[in-house]
Amino acid sequence: MSAYADRLEALAAEAADRCTGCGNCFEVCPTAREIGLDAGEAKARVGELSSLTRGGPAAKGLMKWLDACDGSARCTDACPEDINVRQWVTIAKMKALESARPRSEGATAAASRFRHMAQAVRLLASMQLPSETLQRILAPAEKRSADVLFYTGCNVLRTPHIVLNVMDILDALELDFDVVGGTAHCCGVYQFQEADLPTYERMGHRTFQRFGQSGASKVLTWCPTCTKNFDELEQAVEPASFDLGHVSEFLAANLDALKARFRPDQPRRRVVIHEHLGIGATLASIATLLKAVPNLELVELPQDSGFSYACGGQAAKFKDREQAIHRALAEGAVAEGADTIVTMYHSCHRALSGAEVIYPLKVVNFTDVLAEALGRGGHPDYYRLYKKGGAMDEAVAAARRFLQDNGVRVDESSVQSLTADIFNETGLAGSRDAFRDAFTALARQ
Ligand code: SF4
Ligand code: SF4
Repeated sequence: MSAYADRLEALAAEAADRCTGCGNCFEVCPTAREIGLDAGEAKARVGELSSLTRGGPAAKGLMKWLDACDGSARCTDACPEDINVRQWVTIAKMKALESARPRSEGATAAASRFRHMAQAVRLLASMQLPSETLQRILAPAEKRSADVLFYTGCNVLRTPHIVLNVMDILDALELDFDVVGGTAHCCGVYQFQEADLPTYERMGHRTFQRFGQSGASKVLTWCPTCTKNFDELEQAVEPASFDLGHVSEFLAANLDALKARFRPDQPRRRVVIHEHLGIGATLASIATLLKAVPNLELVELPQDSGFSYACGGQAAKFKDREQAIHRALAEGAVAEGADTIVTMYHSCHRALSGAEVIYPLKVVNFTDVLAEALGRGGHPDYYRLYKKGGAMDEAVAAARRFLQDNGVRVDESSVQSLTADIFNETGLAGSRDAFRDAFTALARQ
């Protein structure tokens, strides 16, 4: 076993030692209830978790719980002993999977998931970003020299206007920063989830080390999954030489500097945040930031914010539940007289941006609002155009230009695969035909 694997095991063992077996964590777990596990059996399930951690069997009821987990962190918030139960569950699940099948099986599954994601990200980023910007983002982390690294992760490059917004905002703060991301800096989530720990160490663990090698004093994360993994599976395992935190928390901490730069002539709007708990203080930070934007009224809408820490990913196991959350949010926003839904993360933005064709609502990311308030931003949200399924002329013209600039060709089979990627994810969308037909025509040119 590697030194890293040893330290992970020690973290889980420490949680088991501190656990009093009260069962609160299992009682509040939304996904345990979603799959019908009885809250009355909380003490038994937690006992099985402790037993598994100490080398005992992977009990059936326990494995159902672990398999259902989507990382909401409601358990962690409910623990009177301050145990990071989500972290414990994540490590226990990985260890159980590691013992249940040959590593090669997990390695094959992880590689396949990674390959699929990397192809989609590469193509979508090449359709929406100029080569110079893309190369800047993809350059090796350890070769950077700025004091602050803005780490994008991989998947936000499907909706790269968000990255450009954050860069605009950090520029407006006159910060010495650099941006880094893409699949060569993956957090290794698939490898960890599939219990391929040796490859995880060469990917996620290595990415985290490369941040340190850059000499940055601060790493601002974007992706909620990367934030969670680097916090719980890296920083908690071995303290880093830099501060790590989500960009929204950093911006909220710099609220006065932002407010001083906000322009007063902002559009009047009533907005609802599509809320997720589970990633530090991101929700509170985004609410604080939005409330400071001139002429923006934040409408509080009760919603199911504790079901998962973000849309998609692990939460996609519960398609019906996600769909119901999206519908209830849009209908609640309309009923409250809101005109805008603000998304926190990229996966939520992808899920909801097509709502514009169904409801009288605009869908923007919080970074769109902040960049605009600073007199910057305005980067086209091409993904929203794809998702709305209306006229594609603008999106296709941009894609043609950017693909050529990036030296990337799109073929018909890639368009088929992208269409499935964009329109099979849970969320609200227009017709898929407009995207598929317009980009198939582009591929044939
Ligand atoms: S992280 Fe959320 S889904 Fe996972 S065990 Fe904890 S409460 Fe349940
Ligand atoms: S809430 Fe905390 S102390 Fe109670 S069973 Fe869960 S992990 Fe143990």
